[in-house]
Amino acid sequence: MIEVVLLGTGGMLPLPERWLSSLLIRVNGAFTLFDCGEGTQIAWREAGWSFRRLAAICFSHTHADHIAGLPGLLHTVANAGRIEPIDVYGPAGTADVVNGLLTIAPALPYELRVTEFAGGERMKLPGELLGSSVAGQHELPVLAYRVDLPRSRAFLPERARQLGVPIALWQRLQRGESAEWADGKITPSQVLGPERKGLSVAYVTDTRPLPELVALATGVDLLVCEGTYGSDDEFPKAVRNQHMTFRETATIARDAGVGRLWITHFSPALLDPGAFAANAETVFAASTVGWDGLSMTLAFSER
Ligand SMILES: [Zn+2]
Ligand SMILES: [Zn+2]
Repeated sequence: MIEVVLLGTGGMLPLPERWLSSLLIRVNGAFTLFDCGEGTQIAWREAGWSFRRLAAICFSHTHADHIAGLPGLLHTVANAGRIEPIDVYGPAGTADVVNGLLTIAPALPYELRVTEFAGGERMKLPGELLGSSVAGQHELPVLAYRVDLPRSRAFLPERARQLGVPIALWQRLQRGESAEWADGKITPSQVLGPERKGLSVAYVTDTRPLPELVALATGVDLLVCEGTYGSDDEFPKAVRNQHMTFRETATIARDAGVGRLWITHFSPALLDPGAFAANAETVFAASTVGWDGLSMTLAFSER
């Protein structure tokens, strides 16, 4: 199961009732945060999740609206009692910015381990999530991320019984290990069902639409993607400022065949993003114009 909360939906600057764009996910009790602009820790507190289990932060890029909230958040996580390391990922330039911000948050009781990616890398994230990244197109180096929670194959007890496998060996086989006993031996594939679909989420912001982003998001259950401008009339502005319109965002979702789209990172001039929902929905029906605190639990399907 993956729990997801959209902490904020603003781009550029926080507004009353609209914190800066940020996504928090919880898997097996461990948290990964995507972006941390000014006020993210307040939005996090409003969401009611604890701070101690933050184990990784993935930065899209180093514009202030995505990273300036880091020092305060790190203090709050320290106050919550964390002493275990936190992994930080981001594009080129992230380490310099994080180290600069750490000058106003010195002496943390845990280690920050910063890794810079160019796009295309994979990493292990907390809670047995597998992460991957691709480069976007923006004023600064930017990364989009995907996380996958793989699902193990089902154990087939009837088959194990038929084959006479002692019950004491079932757990090993469920873990994917072969087993031997006095009267025989068996490989896991003899007692496991077919491959099963896992769960996946992609986070894409501050970029023009690119084919690589469609490839990254292909088949995800949830795509959280920027749509800085609601109106099609603002297409030239989206090109100039290297962002997207709702229609472009929904086109990525449609082309990638995602389960659901949440749109985020609204321009501060976009006072009522919901008024432009149709620009996304006519392209991709399962579009939601996001709001602060929007949350969802992704669960493995029974089928
Ligand atoms: Zn931004
Ligand atoms: Zn930006």
